[in-house]
Amino acid sequence: MLTCILCDSDDAVDRLCGFDLCAPCHMGASFEANLARWSLELQSKTWHETHTYNGQTETISYLEARIAFPSPVDARAHFGTGPTSNHHSDLGSDAGLWQRLSDWFNPKDLEVGDPLFDDAVFISEPEGDELRRLLADEGVQTAIMELVSRGGVRLGDGWVRIRRESITTTPSLVSHGIPLALLAIHVDTFGRLTG
Ligand SMILES: [Zn+2]
Repeated sequence: MLTCILCDSDDAVDRLCGFDLCAPCHMGASFEANLARWSLELQSKTWHETHTYNGQTETISYLEARIAFPSPVDARAHFGTGPTSNHHSDLGSDAGLWQRLSDWFNPKDLEVGDPLFDDAVFISEPEGDELRRLLADEGVQTAIMELVSRGGVRLGDGWVRIRRESITTTPSLVSHGIPLALLAIHVDTFGRLTG
């Protein structure tokens, strides 16, 4: 019998490519309560920007979310499908452009030796003594691959962070937050077991 990693119930079903989640948690039930249960702090913001190009106006909706996990882990990196496909908004636009150019010319890729993971995930800006051991964790790999398929994730300084954008609808905090929470839980568990 599988246990749901988010709520601990005994009827987890393997619904989300390798994640052991019960059906209610997979649908986003009690998301904030489950985060509190794991002592994970969530912060998020959404906003819209309107762009006009060749007389066509389009509105892009953005979501940024980050989850803090309690245990210290010495690992920092950006995970995406290529060099900084998802730069972090702490950088201003000039700094972000400079970072993207710099990464494009000097990609600092890291491979972990698992072909499925290495094919799906491009790791840039890898830092920290524990990064390689952390990335050998199957739960960490699964959560990162799910997040990369949706646009990337940044890890470091006690946070996991995502930024999503859409022109059709505001990206859902719960939908994107579930794999983000699973990554935070697996990283935090790694930190408690090795710290
Ligand atoms: Zn559950």
